[in-house]
Amino acid sequence: MNEEISKLINLQEIDSEIAGFDQEIKAKRQEIAAREQGIADKEEEAAKCREKSAALEQEQRDIKAECEDARVHIKDRQNKMMHIQTSREHQALLKEIEDSKRLIKESEDQAILYMEQIEQLQIKADELENLCAGEKKLLTEEITKAEKAVKRIANRKKKVESERGKIAPDLLPGMLHRYDMLLKKRNGSAVVETRNGICQGCFMAIPPQQFNEVRKGDKLNYCPTCQRVLYFKEEETEACDA
Ligand SMILES: [Zn+2]
Repeated sequence: MNEEISKLINLQEIDSEIAGFDQEIKAKRQEIAAREQGIADKEEEAAKCREKSAALEQEQRDIKAECEDARVHIKDRQNKMMHIQTSREHQALLKEIEDSKRLIKESEDQAILYMEQIEQLQIKADELENLCAGEKKLLTEEITKAEKAVKRIANRKKKVESERGKIAPDLLPGMLHRYDMLLKKRNGSAVVETRNGICQGCFMAIPPQQFNEVRKGDKLNYCPTCQRVLYFKEEETEACDA
């Protein structure tokens, strides 16, 4: 095989490896970020429960004050009752007392409902906060592990990058630039295999005559559709055809 093609294949392997390292690092960071977000969401939900519970407690205090006023009102009307003359006045006072009693009853029922809601909200907030505390502890450990893993990956990447630095200048003039452009434009794959006359980069057919040239491997060939550098691997194709 043409030496230049071998070098390009080698370079592509190295760049794929580097891309793989980057992907691994990205995945680790994304996983941590997703878990941090999960905790933040739960904390927000817990805070909302606390807020709602505090608002209901305020409502309860208001209701209590209202009931107190109503009781004072009832006492006042009961006192007045002793001094009235007509049955009409008597009826009117009775109605006021009844209304106040009803108001107290309704308010007390409402206060019980609020109390149940407050209890549930507080239980939920407690649960969420406990969960967050546990998850945070775990996450701290995970972050330490992930940081170590990222460091290891970065070290491996550095080694591979230095290998790249050694072979890249060996290419023919202009070749590295062309290769780098392709790598960027074609999502990290600039040098691809051809199988059964098909470019494995874009999966379009290569004209038969060009495929023969790729097969011989004497000179550089570019895919007419995606412009990637093409090469041919003898043994794998045989395995495929078998
Ligand atoms: Zn192609």
